[in-house]
Amino acid sequence: MAKKNKDNGNVRCSFCGKEPSYRDILVPSPLGDSYICSECVGQIEGMIKDYLGEQDGTDKAAKEKLSKDEDFAGKKLPTPAEIRAFLDQYVIGQDDAKKYLSVAVYNHYKRLAQTEDDVDIEKSNIIMVGPTGTGKTLLAKTIARQLDVPFAIVDATVLTEAGYVGEDIESLLVRLLQASDYDVKKAERGIVFIDEIDKIARKGDNPSITRDVSGEGVQQGLLKLLEGSVVNVPPNGGRKHPEQKMIDVDTKNILFICGGAFDGIERKIAHRLNTHVVGFTGQNTRTKVDKDNYLQYVAPQDLKSFGLIPEIIGRLPVLVHLDPLDRDALLKVLTEPKNAIIRQYKKLFKMDGVELTFDADALEFIVDKAIEYKLGARGLRTIVETIMIDPMFETPSKDISQLTITLEYAEEKVKKAYIG
Ligand code: ADP
Repeated sequence: MAKKNKDNGNVRCSFCGKEPSYRDILVPSPLGDSYICSECVGQIEGMIKDYLGEQDGTDKAAKEKLSKDEDFAGKKLPTPAEIRAFLDQYVIGQDDAKKYLSVAVYNHYKRLAQTEDDVDIEKSNIIMVGPTGTGKTLLAKTIARQLDVPFAIVDATVLTEAGYVGEDIESLLVRLLQASDYDVKKAERGIVFIDEIDKIARKGDNPSITRDVSGEGVQQGLLKLLEGSVVNVPPNGGRKHPEQKMIDVDTKNILFICGGAFDGIERKIAHRLNTHVVGFTGQNTRTKVDKDNYLQYVAPQDLKSFGLIPEIIGRLPVLVHLDPLDRDALLKVLTEPKNAIIRQYKKLFKMDGVELTFDADALEFIVDKAIEYKLGARGLRTIVETIMIDPMFETPSKDISQLTITLEYAEEKVKKAYIG
């Protein structure tokens, strides 16, 4: 700690303890309770440089090692069916999305494993379209659990075009580098999940009216990452600055999975389907359209109408939709997945020696409330939490071994909490 020298009242550097010479500057901490002299700042800068240099060296060694013992060639790859079976343990429904993801991940492994260069297997980046709370992030996270490649989840809403307030697009790769302990070679075969991709859709049809720094500008920036190029990444994130040491990351083999709710895209799909039916097929040959779930017909041109630029759409060739979760599916979400919400609460209580059960009608009530509040699966936890807060507070200090949540109890707690 920097202290005023009691004897003479002078301030000392909190690091080296020396009184500054006449050439030295003492910089106070924001709290004003400690100081650092310019000599110490210089030394620390040197240490940081050494450290980063060392890391780079380790990277090189690790790269060589990886290409020998961690090569995917000859490794037994999980089959699409195995990947899917794993997803089934955690995610309810979403059959199409599971199938596409399993195949894409399997092909990703195969591309990494290929040894001959005769045919270059290109990656198939994925875009998932589905209402919020239907499992897009859950699917991505579950895949990540099973993989032995680094995985990062990033939110597109924080990204802005370089030079504007927000994060540079390269920050996507910083997360991936972090996930691979800065092993560049590993990061270069990782998977990045970009959430809320719909939030960087172009606002309005004419891109030239105003600068769209968080929309089209970001899409343009993403292009080079998606298609595969060597990108300069600031190792610790943040804005790039000239003196910073950069890490080169080649995105050629990185698989990008994007997800978004695309609120309102149904109207564009419906519009397209109607125009087509009238224009080309006529009344009699009209195939029946399921009006409750337009999303299942989503096509690349709908993404374009929504505001994604064609170049981005072209680089996300696998387009999958997620279905809205109906009452049955929500009931299953509550109880069936390996880490279902109800199972989690049961476990919490079991750790206190209490056997927790829910009456079937209480579970149905929870689902109905989630539907009523239009919260989808995301709301289930909020409602269960509202019901369980009192028991969680009281049970540990009570001498009970069993607790049943009845419909009446659930209703009373929800009514009291006024949610919605
Ligand atoms: P989003 O589609 O908005 O990314 P999430 O994947 O974040 O939705 O879902 C929010 C929560 O809802 C998850 O943590 C999970 O508990 C639950 N959930 C959503 N969809 C499903 C599903 N299909 N199967 C199981 N749980 C789900």
